[in-house]
Amino acid sequence: MTPETKLEEIFTKLAPKQKSALKNLCILTAEDLLWHFPFRYENPADLKRINEVFEGEQVRIWGKVKKIDYEKTWKKKLNIAYATIEDATGRIKLVWFRQPYIAKMLPESSCAIFSGRVALRKSANGREKYIANPLYDIVPCSLVPNFSATITPSLQPLYPTTAGLSSLWISKAVSKILSQIKINEFLPKEIIDKYHLPELGKALRWVHIPKTAEHASAAKKRFAFEEVFLMQLLRITQKEEIKKTAGVGFKNLKKLKEEFLGLFNFQPTKAQLRAIDDVIKDFESGHPMNRLLEGDVGSGKTAVAAAAAYMVAKNGMEATYMAPTEILARQHFETFTKLFKNSGIKIGLLTSSISDKFPSKVNPALSTHISKSQLLRWVANGEIPILIGTHSLIENKVAFKNLALAMVDEQHRFGVMQRSRLLKKNKALPHFLTMTATPIPRTLALTIYADLDVSILDEMPPGRKKIETKIVPPKERNLAYEFLRSKISDGEQAFVICPRIEPKDPSKAGWLKAEMKSVKEEHKKLKEKIFQEFEIGIMHGRLKPKEKEETMRRFKDGKIKILVSTSVIEVGVDVPNATIMMIEGAERFGLAQLHQFRGRVGRSEKQSYCFIFPSAYSAQVFKRLKALTQAKSGFQLAEYDLEFRGAGELTGRRQWGISDIGMEALRNLKMVEAARLEAKNIIEEKSLGKYPLLSEKIKALSREPLHFE
Ligand code: ADP
Ligand code: MG
Repeated sequence: MTPETKLEEIFTKLAPKQKSALKNLCILTAEDLLWHFPFRYENPADLKRINEVFEGEQVRIWGKVKKIDYEKTWKKKLNIAYATIEDATGRIKLVWFRQPYIAKMLPESSCAIFSGRVALRKSANGREKYIANPLYDIVPCSLVPNFSATITPSLQPLYPTTAGLSSLWISKAVSKILSQIKINEFLPKEIIDKYHLPELGKALRWVHIPKTAEHASAAKKRFAFEEVFLMQLLRITQKEEIKKTAGVGFKNLKKLKEEFLGLFNFQPTKAQLRAIDDVIKDFESGHPMNRLLEGDVGSGKTAVAAAAAYMVAKNGMEATYMAPTEILARQHFETFTKLFKNSGIKIGLLTSSISDKFPSKVNPALSTHISKSQLLRWVANGEIPILIGTHSLIENKVAFKNLALAMVDEQHRFGVMQRSRLLKKNKALPHFLTMTATPIPRTLALTIYADLDVSILDEMPPGRKKIETKIVPPKERNLAYEFLRSKISDGEQAFVICPRIEPKDPSKAGWLKAEMKSVKEEHKKLKEKIFQEFEIGIMHGRLKPKEKEETMRRFKDGKIKILVSTSVIEVGVDVPNATIMMIEGAERFGLAQLHQFRGRVGRSEKQSYCFIFPSAYSAQVFKRLKALTQAKSGFQLAEYDLEFRGAGELTGRRQWGISDIGMEALRNLKMVEAARLEAKNIIEEKSLGKYPLLSEKIKALSREPLHFE
C-alpha cells in the first residue's frame, strides 16, 4: 500500500453511500484519509455516567443503544424517534423531533457519545429524564468504559463526517491503513530535530490514535508547522521564478510620475510617494512586479493605482483594475475619469451589467453607456488603455492588446483562482499590483503573502481626525439620532449599517428571539418616524445595478442624507462628506469588518463619528466591541479577532487555501516565523535539491492553481 492507493482498493466492500460520502469529503486515497484529521478528541474523563445527570444540565455521555422506536403523531404529523441507551450505571431515553433520519443512522447495539440537555417528562411510572435532539458520534463499543472498573480509556478521535460515514468508520479505516503503510518523512531531518517535531509516521499515529493529549497536540503542531512551511517554500519559490521571467519595460517613468502628480488634486503623502517609487522600481527592474500595497482604510491606495495605470497608458499599453463590487468599480471609474479628464486617456468600465466608456463622443466631459461588444472590441484593439471592472474582467471574452499591468483592489475578496485568471490575460506576464486594507494578523500576512513584495501606506492624508467611536446603550439611541439630525442640518451625511436585508419572518422566528435589524425595516422606521425631513436611501446586494448606481450617485451628490445599507458598502466606498457611521447589530460582525465600516467615514478634514449599537449585551460582546474604540489600526483588530473568536472568524479565510489546523497555527507567531526562516534558508542556500521528497511535494503543490500560473 502506498499513499496513492485508492481507498476502494483497500476497502473493497465500501457501500455506495460510503463511496459517495468519501467523495463529498474529497477523500479518495490512503493519503487523503490519513490527512483527514480529527477535529476534536473526546476525553472520557469529561463524560458523565447516566445515573449522575440531572435536569437542565448540558451533558455528554457514552452509551450503548438498546432500542429505537418511531412514532408519528397523527394530529401534527410530527415524526418522533426514541432511543434508549445504557451504560454501566443506568439507562436514559433520547428523543428526536422531526429528524427521524438522525436516529436511523444509529443502529441498535451501536455505541456513541451523546450530547444534549437533560429534561424531565411525565411517564407511566412518574417522571422520567430524557435528552431532546442530542447530537452524537458513533464510537467503538470496546471503548465505552465500564464505570465500575478503574480503567482510563484513551482519547477518542472525532472526525468531520457527512451522512453515510461515521467517525467510527474513519477511525477504524485509519488504523488499518496506518498498520500497513510505509510513510516517508519529507521534512529535512535538521528541521525535525531543531523544533522537536514528531516525524511524519509518528505524527500521523499521534494525531489519529493519541495516547495522551500531549501527543495529539505535538502532532498537530507538526502538521501546522508543515503546512505553513510548505506554503512559504512554495510562495518563495514562485517569487524566485518571477525574478527569472522578463517583464514589460517602460519609458519616461520619472517624467510621467511628475505629470501624474500634476493631475492629482492633493499633495501626495510621503507614503504614497514611496509606494509610487516602489512601483517605478519594479517597472524598471526588467521583471514582472508582484507587489502588495497595504494600507489602512482611507490611506489613499487608489491614487497609487492611478499613478501606475497612468504610466502604463502613456506608454501605449493597457492596465486593468479589478474591484470586488460593482459600487466600488464604478467609484474607481469615476475617480479615474476625474483625474484623467484632460490627459486624453480613454477609460472603460465593465461589470456584469454595465459597459461604459469615458469620454463620451457627445460630451467629452462625461462618460457614456456603450454596448459590451463595442467596449470589448476597443479594449482588444488597444484603444482603451485602462479598463476598470468587477470579476467580469476575468471572463474569457475579455482580451487585451498588450496588457502590461493587472491591479486588484481589496484582493482578500478574490480567490487565488480569480487572480491567476486575470494574470493569464497576456502571453507575457503582466506586472501585478494588489492592494488591501484587509486587516489580517501578521502571521497570516507572512504566510499568504510570502511571494509578494510589500509597500505600506502607513500615513493618512493630512488633517484627518481620529474617528470618535462610541458604543451606544439603548437608552441613548434617541440622543444619537438627535446628534445625527444636527450634523445633517449642517450639511453632513451618514450611513446606517444593518446585518440583514429583510426582516425575519416572524412565523419562522423560532429560537431567534433577539432582534436582528434589517435594512428594509430600519429604512422605513427612519423615514417615517425619525427623519421625515431628510431623504433616506437604501442599499443592498439585491437591488438592480441601475438602482445601486442611482442611489450611490444621489448619495455622493448629497441629495440622500442617510444611506441605510447592508455590508455591501463594507469596502472601498468613498464619500468624504459622510461623517457618521451607525452600525446596528454590531456584535454580528467581526472587528476587522467593523473597522472597514468605520473607514467609510473620516475621509475628510471634518470630525467623524462611529456609533455602535449592539443588539445583545454581554460582558463578552462589550469587551470585544470595546477593542474597536481602543485599537490603533485594523491590523491590531484582526489580531483581537483571532484571539477572541478564533481563526474561523477571519474575513475571507476560505480563499487562502489554509486548513483549519494551519489557521489555528496562525495564533502562534513564533512558529510562523520559524517556518518562514527555514523556508527562506532553503531557498537562499539553493538546497531544495538536497531533499528530493520535499521538492517533490513542492512540485505537486505548485501544480495546484495559484496566482502565478
Ligand atoms: P483607500 O486606501 O481606503 O483605498 P482611498 O484611495 O479611497 O483610500 O482614499 C481615501 C480618500 O482620501 C479619498 O477621498 C481620496 O480622494 C483622499 N486622498 C487620497 N490621497 C490623498 C492625499 N494625499 N491628500 C488628501 N486626500 C487624499
Ligand atoms: Mg480603496
